[in-house]
Amino acid sequence: MSREQQAVAQARKAFETGRSRSLEYRVLQLKNLQRLFLEKQKEISDASKKDLNKSEVGTQLFETLGLEGEISLAIQKLKEWAAPRPVEKNLLTLSDTVYIQPEPLGVVLIIGAWNYPWAVTIQPLIGAIAAGNAAVVKPSEVCVHTAKVMEDLLPLYLDKELYPVVTGGVPETQELLRQRFDHIFYTGNSMVGKVIMEAAAKHLTPVTLELGGKSPCYIDKNCDISIACRRITWGKYTNCGQTCIAPDYILCEPSIQDRVIEEVKKSIKDFYTDNPKTCPDYGRIINQRHFKRIMGLLKDSTVAAGGDNDESNCFIGPIVLRDVKPEATVMQEEIFGPLLPILPVSGLDEAIKFINKGEKPLALYVFSADEKVYLSITTADLHMCHFLLNLLYFNSKNYLQKVYE
Ligand code: NAD
Repeated sequence: MSREQQAVAQARKAFETGRSRSLEYRVLQLKNLQRLFLEKQKEISDASKKDLNKSEVGTQLFETLGLEGEISLAIQKLKEWAAPRPVEKNLLTLSDTVYIQPEPLGVVLIIGAWNYPWAVTIQPLIGAIAAGNAAVVKPSEVCVHTAKVMEDLLPLYLDKELYPVVTGGVPETQELLRQRFDHIFYTGNSMVGKVIMEAAAKHLTPVTLELGGKSPCYIDKNCDISIACRRITWGKYTNCGQTCIAPDYILCEPSIQDRVIEEVKKSIKDFYTDNPKTCPDYGRIINQRHFKRIMGLLKDSTVAAGGDNDESNCFIGPIVLRDVKPEATVMQEEIFGPLLPILPVSGLDEAIKFINKGEKPLALYVFSADEKVYLSITTADLHMCHFLLNLLYFNSKNYLQKVYE
């Protein structure tokens, strides 16, 4: 029996004992996980620093704080979530006692990605535990140090038979995928998403796929360009652009392009100083394969700002590209790095048409002071983003300034 088969068989056997079903046991496991984040913050931060040059504050803000909130919510709501729900009777059930009883599915497989490795791997684990399942956890092998810390720490806090950690890369994941699960939760790119769905189909296993995409920003000329650019700069260059909902590219009218470039440059300097390479808050590309991929995206576009890079250190400074053509290399895939292309468009209609030609993005950012723009981009024939439709409307500017600056 392979290591992967053993882990799944052991999780199934533990699930069949029925111990994960008791609400007290679920809460106990969730509290243990909570304790892990309280006691092992340093190990977690050190590994994130080594993998992505994430700062300690960045790791807390983007990785563990959200998880601690999720755990508290699950503990607080568990009784309510697990309780039977009333159902209205109909002719066929007139003489029955009818209700919906939430039940654990069984053994869940969680396959994580590397960009926010704790957030994307542990969040589904919290849900799996809260719902009374067993779960096999497969962290991304790409974030080498974090995967090791996860493999070492989780068994110290959690029931290691119910929630085993299996480390490894493609062969190990594929071996796991040959086993039968009751649900598969995958975070990563769409190409591998298809591999996951195909493997799951063999056992008719339901899947949750958290994928990526090219999330557009539309900047209307009638808005506070300075605030819009500050927010885009923050979202784009955090974690060196390696964020699933990072603004991928900007659409704006040619008349404001120069101003947008200047404002983004100003914010880059504000956030990361004149020399992002030595700034402790500026991240690194995860590995040289991704470094080469991102640098390759630059080949047929014009650099308007930045360009400093160092392969030996996986460093690519914040880059802005101007007058980018829709057929440019950088527009053919999710960038997932610190390149910000600006595509001039004649106005809102062209922006909507352009976005609709592509795949559905995860998020959409609209910056406008004009209610008509806001409404038309939400109600026009724009495809619904399948994850998040994020609209920033600048009517109450002072309030927004307070919130976002
Ligand atoms: P990755 O390379 O870490 O791959 C993800 C997981 O898939 C890993 O655990 C890996 O072992 C496994 N895997 C890779 N190739 C495989 C194969 N051929 N067969 C089976 N398993 C395989 O991560 P990635 O794909 O580079 O992650 C980045 C992508 O994830 C981006 O597209 C990003 O937008 C997306 N993402 C989405 C979200 C979200 O919440 N929607 C969050 C984070 C990242």
